[in-house]
Amino acid sequence: SEKAFVMIKPDGVRRGLIGKIVCRFEEKGLALVRAELRVVSHETAEAHYGHLKDKPFFGELVDYITSGPVFAMIVEGKGAVKNSRSLIGPTNPAEAPPGTIRGDYGLTVEENVIHGSDSPDNAAMEIDRFFK
Ligand code: ATP
Ligand code: MG
Repeated sequence: SEKAFVMIKPDGVRRGLIGKIVCRFEEKGLALVRAELRVVSHETAEAHYGHLKDKPFFGELVDYITSGPVFAMIVEGKGAVKNSRSLIGPTNPAEAPPGTIRGDYGLTVEENVIHGSDSPDNAAMEIDRFFK
């Protein structure tokens, strides 16, 4: 079966949403196989969001993701990447339907509660980056 990297962002952790969010993955049938609460370094944040380096919000994005502890996880199960993305919902919580994590817990794209790998290849890279 497949693995995905999922990370509850600092706003989600600050708001006490770890339990509720982990519950959704477990209810769906994805198993939590590894997890850690930790502060992301500047270096790791810049690597993780390297594909967005040229965006005007890149600096704020790095500040946001390093602003407090995240809850980094590996979830495992059939189609873990696609299934976790569908639980998470679209990037902008304002466009994410109720029933998705971003749709239920977020308001704006600047603080969208959670990250999920967008492909199996990126999942492998992110797992390596965060859990090596
Ligand atoms: P993630 O990679 O966090 O799961 P995503 O794959 O849905 O999100 P990406 O395009 O990879 O979306 O963007 C990564 C992150 O950059 C978003 O989750 C969000 O935190 C931030 N972001 C994206 N677009 C904007 C924007 N227009 N303004 C501010 N932040 C943004
Ligand atoms: Mg992404």
